[in-house]
Amino acid sequence: MKARVLGAGVAGLCVATELVARGCAVTVFDAAPRPGPHGCSWWAGGMLAPFCEGETAEEPVVQLGQEAADWWERQGVTVARCGTLVVALGRDRRELDRFARRVAKHERLDGDALAALEPDLAGRFDRALHVAAEAHLDPRAALAHLRDRLEADGVTFVAEPGRPDGLTFDCRGLAARDVLPDLRGVKGEMAMLRSRDIRLSRPVRLLHPRFPLYVVPRADGLFMLGATQIESDDRRRSVRSVLELLSAAYALHPAFGEAELVEIGVDARPAFPDNLPRLTRQGDTIHVNGLFRHGFLLAPALARMAADAALDGTIPELMHEDHG
Ligand SMILES: Cc1cc2nc3c(=O)[nH]c(=O)nc-3n(C[C@H](O)[C@H](O)[C@H](O)COP(=O)(O)OP(=O)(O)OC[C@H]3O[C@@H](n4cnc5c(N)ncnc54)[C@H](O)[C@@H]3O)c2cc1C
Repeated sequence: MKARVLGAGVAGLCVATELVARGCAVTVFDAAPRPGPHGCSWWAGGMLAPFCEGETAEEPVVQLGQEAADWWERQGVTVARCGTLVVALGRDRRELDRFARRVAKHERLDGDALAALEPDLAGRFDRALHVAAEAHLDPRAALAHLRDRLEADGVTFVAEPGRPDGLTFDCRGLAARDVLPDLRGVKGEMAMLRSRDIRLSRPVRLLHPRFPLYVVPRADGLFMLGATQIESDDRRRSVRSVLELLSAAYALHPAFGEAELVEIGVDARPAFPDNLPRLTRQGDTIHVNGLFRHGFLLAPALARMAADAALDGTIPELMHEDHG
């Protein structure tokens, strides 16, 4: 079977990977030659945190997200399976209890247990939550790896979408608003810092009623700080957001005050009104979209479901038929 995929963000690359695994001849169309800052996927933290996301996300996110770490590892992507640490400053301790009530699979840690996991946070918090079953990856490395592997498997990457020949998988992210009118953008700002004065092995979430922060460690002393969540598709980086992110990082550990500010990024996450992803079938096109803040977490499951729907005719729960 022939298939074309529109868009080479995380959704498109995962769909192409699942189609190739089922023996399809795949062409991917994207004006950009490589993964880069033009796509929302570039700016992601790379947290594979289905349980922590369950604090606010609905059950499908928690369920389907549990496939992600194994899937990425099967593709040859390096996945760090160190869990997620959740902390709160003294005055926000109640946030930790509220979070614990809503999130499954956590273990409560006292200050010593926290220091054993993350020595550089010793003495800074007297309690924390650890969600051991979670993982993280470097999104930019993961995108580049999938793309290179697809190319090695014979997938062609083309800038101009040719005429449809077989099924089309539309994975254009927010650009698909032209045919998915209830898709909206949810702005996310992030910062990248470099510090040799602090080491973390796992993502750390700092709970705060107004300025929640997460820090995701990457190689070479890099730390991704994320992320704002604003109902807007405006892509300007605001002073307020950057101040909030950097202040929260400084509150997590003062060493971040001396860190090098490497990058400030922004993009708008593609989301439907219920913030759940959707497969939408319109004739010979299957739209894979609405990944919101869960692109790396949910694209593997969505891609599997989209490929099954196309090749076996199964109708997954998240499939919508659009005859309009
Ligand atoms: C700050 C921030 C932090 C995040 N952190 C995480 C996280 O920790 N974990 C997680 O799972 N998710 C996270 N996300 C969410 C994740 O980044 C998104 O859900 C995901 O990137 C959406 O992927 P996509 O492939 O749908 O869209 P995109 O990545 O935007 O890809 C769409 C692609 O379509 C292409 N395109 C556009 N128009 C056309 C056209 N006409 N024809 C062909 N191609 C076209 C574009 O060039 C682009 O390459 C985060 C997002 C942000 C902004």
